[in-house]
Amino acid sequence: MRFKQDFFEQLDGFYSQAYPQGISNPHWLGWSDAAAKLIGLDKPNHELLMQLSANAAAPGASYYAQVYSGHQFGGYTPRLGDGRSIILGEAIGPDGAWDVALKGGGPTPYSRHGDGRAVMRSAVREFLVSEALAALSVPTTRALAVIGSDLPVWRESQETAAITVRLAKSHIRFGHFEYFCYSEKGAPDKLTQLLNFTITQHFPHLTTDAAGYKQWFVEVVQLTAKMIAHWQAVGFAHGVMNTDNMSIVGDTFDFGPFAFLDTFKESFICNHSDHDGRYAFGQQPGIGLWNLKRLAQALPPIIASDDLIAALNTYQPSLVNHYVSLMREKLGLSTDSDLDNAEQEKQDLAFISQFTVMLENNQLDYTNSLRKIGTIDISSQHSLLRDDMLDVHQFDSWFQAYQSRVGQVSDVAAWQHERNQHNPKYILRNYLAQEAIIDIEEKADNSKLLQLQQLLTRPFDEQPEMNDFAKRPPQWGQGLVMSCSS
Ligand code: AMP
Ligand code: MG
Repeated sequence: MRFKQDFFEQLDGFYSQAYPQGISNPHWLGWSDAAAKLIGLDKPNHELLMQLSANAAAPGASYYAQVYSGHQFGGYTPRLGDGRSIILGEAIGPDGAWDVALKGGGPTPYSRHGDGRAVMRSAVREFLVSEALAALSVPTTRALAVIGSDLPVWRESQETAAITVRLAKSHIRFGHFEYFCYSEKGAPDKLTQLLNFTITQHFPHLTTDAAGYKQWFVEVVQLTAKMIAHWQAVGFAHGVMNTDNMSIVGDTFDFGPFAFLDTFKESFICNHSDHDGRYAFGQQPGIGLWNLKRLAQALPPIIASDDLIAALNTYQPSLVNHYVSLMREKLGLSTDSDLDNAEQEKQDLAFISQFTVMLENNQLDYTNSLRKIGTIDISSQHSLLRDDMLDVHQFDSWFQAYQSRVGQVSDVAAWQHERNQHNPKYILRNYLAQEAIIDIEEKADNSKLLQLQQLLTRPFDEQPEMNDFAKRPPQWGQGLVMSCSS
């Protein structure tokens, strides 16, 4: 790893130095070749294992924890910061630099009452989901590796510690701006310094003046809208959309009790502690805007209110636009029609929503139902999807509209193949992650984890020997709710 230290060198006062503490008996549980390539690494080796488990210093690393605050479940916490994630610096890769962070690397000045550690189950889940989302083209932070240990940690019971090695284009969160707006150190100069750094590093096509600031916020709004459109289209629930978990570059960030939908349900809640369903699957688009408003509230010292409001007003149309275009690819709705774009989008959104309502009414699996689109011969009345419906009359009337919306398909096989490129067969179902975790816990066997990881790097490909991994969860794995303790 070759590091540069731009954040560390340019943003003194925005972090504390924090040295990670090694975990005992470290061993690779998982390694991502694809993530490794991003920072110019190839295969894992012993030297890297020692460095990334904090048992040896990484040459060129600076080791620091960033300070930020955030709105958690609607209420403002004035000071959070990296309580268990220590950044080594920005590793230089062939197409840009990536922050390398040891999540679970030990206590920092921001640990409050926590131990600075991550338990194996949560480290494994973050590793798997980061790489699974990337393979689905969902904007996300990445995970280079997950390292197991025999270091005991206490949650509800005794567990073992692990480290996820996270790669992020940026660790700057909405909460960074909130912190420097509201803390006593605040004042516009710190905010401006942070914003200038953000723009120079991550929005280099923009200028660091009033015009650039205004456009920057428009882009943050739209990147966030795009990320959430992806979540809704792929059926992903983040679970803890606090503003300290919202990345300024629009990547899915800081995984906790996330889940992919099995059965489609708007009100699906994946987080055991989310009693009111604040972060339920169907709430995510609205919460994205709520979070952007919290970010906007921290910016008036440097961006005019009218400009902030104008940018916020682009959120909903932008989200709908991305969502509809992703769903069109899934359903095979082409757009070269006579209707004007806005009218077509409105009609398609209504049509897509009829589809998801039908899935919900029939308690169908979201991923598997969409995958069946790739078996449809649009000219034929019969389809595998129809067989799944209880109310076939409702389905038939929807299907008739679908047939006329799709129109003539000259090459059915090519059309079906195209659908399969947009509707994954394999997703990281909670029960699959759970099975991999149980094998590690009970048998020290990570082969299921490796198998799952391999599978999810090619989520759109038929892998017949892996068909079982596409099944709906067994009884025990239905509606698994994850705890926040991680
Ligand atoms: P999260 O819900 O993981 O995004 O964490 C929220 C805040 O709590 C962040 O500031 C974390 O750094 C901190 N935190 C979570 N778990 C721990 C832990 N085990 N030790 C110290 N800080 C923690
Ligand atoms: Mg967090």
